[in-house]
Amino acid sequence: MSTLQLPILNGTHFKAHFEAELRAAGTITTLQINIGYVCNLACHHCHVESSPARTDPQDNMDEATAARVIDWTLKQPTLKTVDFTGGSPEMNPHFRLMVETFRGQGLHVIDRCNPTIIGFVDKKTGEDYSWVPQFLAANQVEVVASMPCYSQENVDAQRGRGAYDDSVAGLLKLNGVGYGIEPSLPLNLVYNPVGPHLPPAQDVLEVQYKRELQQRFGLVFNELWTITNMPIKRWRHQLERQGQLEPYMSLLIDNYNPDTIDGLMCRRQISIDPQGRLYDCDFNQALGMHTPGLEAAYIWEETADALAERVIATGDHCYGCTAGCGSSCGGAIT
Ligand code: SF4
Ligand code: SF4
Repeated sequence: MSTLQLPILNGTHFKAHFEAELRAAGTITTLQINIGYVCNLACHHCHVESSPARTDPQDNMDEATAARVIDWTLKQPTLKTVDFTGGSPEMNPHFRLMVETFRGQGLHVIDRCNPTIIGFVDKKTGEDYSWVPQFLAANQVEVVASMPCYSQENVDAQRGRGAYDDSVAGLLKLNGVGYGIEPSLPLNLVYNPVGPHLPPAQDVLEVQYKRELQQRFGLVFNELWTITNMPIKRWRHQLERQGQLEPYMSLLIDNYNPDTIDGLMCRRQISIDPQGRLYDCDFNQALGMHTPGLEAAYIWEETADALAERVIATGDHCYGCTAGCGSSCGGAIT
């Protein structure tokens, strides 16, 4: 049972309610780095609106910032995990140095990898991303790979034509270097609903995914994590165009579950953008909602301890994390 009691609300004033209650849990164990917004895909549900067009230098962490973030991270004794997200993190030129440095210091590293990157050759830069599986395996990076469905129709509808075949090919290459097979090389897949509904039960869906992907392709993985689509940015605009925003918000609010509060990811992590600015999570980052009181701060001006009991910036979208079984970067919460 949650130590914080947030009553089910009637659809109004919930932002004020969250703000009054939600704080970090006392220890920051994870730094989530959004290293850049450039991506080889442009998915309908993408909350950071990543795409190949995000080429503004401000949208990608530069060398000086990467160095400052490395330096800061290695001085924070409570940090155990560095969680890279994007965009496609591998498309940042400093990704490999950061991963090698953090792993060399014994930190657990997660790469939120869109598996189509593995077969991608960037026509603008000429970069061939076939290095990704071997690099990640050599550094024993945990891979969290987005795979919104085991059916071709649903994946291509959400991510673009050809994304399913490219995703399967990328995942098989990860299997080929031991991911999902060797205990030191975990491969977890992420499901998110294609339409405006809550994810199904994570354990039931995992069984289906494992059966279907094994039978169709001989593909193996460790865990399936279900993530609720957040009603922000590209997904929110799509809901608005389809007249589905209000019903979707009602669905999230009606399914508010107070037992999710203890496990909300914002309570034990801090999130930074490509400039090193501070947020409570990647969703708040996408909305430009900085950690309260630290709107102009950079991570190297703070300490993890000083952030450990901070008030968290909240809004309507937080109901995406508290609906049903809850939703976090690690899947369902309860
Ligand atoms: S692969 Fe991920 S980061 Fe890239 S556009 Fe799709 S959802 Fe966004
Ligand atoms: S969106 Fe979720 S993770 Fe982010 S602040 Fe709200 S409850 Fe926390």
